[in-house]
Amino acid sequence: MKKKVLIILLLFATVQLYAQDLAHYKKVVKELSSSRYQGRGYARGGANKAGKFLQKEYQKAGADTVICQHFTIDINTFCGKMQMWADGKKLTPGVDFAMREYSPGVKGEFPVYHVDTLNYNAEKMFADLAKPEYANCLVCVEFWFAYRHRKDFSKLQKAGQCTNAGLIQTFSSPIKFFKAYGERVIDKPIIWTTPEAIEGVKRVRVNVENEFLKGYDLFNVIAKVEGELHDSCYVFTAHYDHLGNLGRKIFYAGANDNASGTAALVTLAAYYAQNRPKYDIYFLSFSGEDANLRGSEFYANNPIVPLDRIKYLFNIDMIGDNNPVQYCEVSDEGMKGFALFEKINEENHFFKSLNRGALAANSDHYPFAKRHVPCIFFENENGDAFQYYHTVFDDYKHALFDSYEPVFKIVTTFIERYEKF
Ligand SMILES: [Zn+2]
Repeated sequence: MKKKVLIILLLFATVQLYAQDLAHYKKVVKELSSSRYQGRGYARGGANKAGKFLQKEYQKAGADTVICQHFTIDINTFCGKMQMWADGKKLTPGVDFAMREYSPGVKGEFPVYHVDTLNYNAEKMFADLAKPEYANCLVCVEFWFAYRHRKDFSKLQKAGQCTNAGLIQTFSSPIKFFKAYGERVIDKPIIWTTPEAIEGVKRVRVNVENEFLKGYDLFNVIAKVEGELHDSCYVFTAHYDHLGNLGRKIFYAGANDNASGTAALVTLAAYYAQNRPKYDIYFLSFSGEDANLRGSEFYANNPIVPLDRIKYLFNIDMIGDNNPVQYCEVSDEGMKGFALFEKINEENHFFKSLNRGALAANSDHYPFAKRHVPCIFFENENGDAFQYYHTVFDDYKHALFDSYEPVFKIVTTFIERYEKF
């Protein structure tokens, strides 16, 4: 009887411990996805405000040191007017239309020329566009079609090559604002719309403002939890920036991408401050990831601890999902460690399986993998939240919390066992 009570109490204690972490995790995800941070973008101070919040969170978590590492970027932003009407019907930004990241602003009323993609003939298209009725038109074409015929369509983007005002590219629905990495501005505007929003439309009215920021200041937040030994370390990374605003009212909350990974790092720091590790552990919260890995690339060029002292690096980007199969990428030097990850997973069934894909420049592990650091990237792909990736629907309401605990457990178990493996 006594034994039973003890077991129940112990069970309750472990459940409590993880419940506590999950609650903390959710709280941080919710905060970072809130309107206060305006999608943690590079204008309106969203990303930097989130960075300041994170510094405090790491301090509260019990980190021994928390510092900021500043860098600058040139970036095109859309924080002003963002309006579009298709044959008089008002479209919703972020849902029906968005802007390509490197597009200039655009204002006016334009005829629409729909490219005949079924019987495509470049010569005929350019002949049509030379007609007076299509001077100053917007040329509408499916995104991938334009990509396949980019030689033709790049002419329509450049000033002085054709009399069109710009391009409309149709893309998936909901519209995905792929990246925020407009480090330049092209000559003519490119508007993204869903196919439904522009089908058969003859005229559009647009009023979109952009602002190109030069030398915009951003910072990485670096927290350290000291272990007994300081000659080498483990490193967790996650980016805390996201796509920011699309016009004055719309912002990309980025709950899954990547408030989820950011929150995981805060709770891991809290865990290690309570359960002191053998080696120092660094928590690198990067900015500028959605602007083409700018923060992690800057850090990798200016590390505060030499990169060859990293035993293993864990990059967590988008775990706010529920796929029991966990996607990961591993550097060549990290493959020995990956064998341990597989062993741990087989023994504990944290995930149904680990699905390792080819290494790509798709998140902050890449600048380290390129520099031969043993590392792994966790991203929970193709769960129910993944469909909202880079859309305005990647918000707290759509975030899922299933992957947090298995990721937390697999990395903490890894650090416990890697030395003896
Ligand atoms: Zn991301």
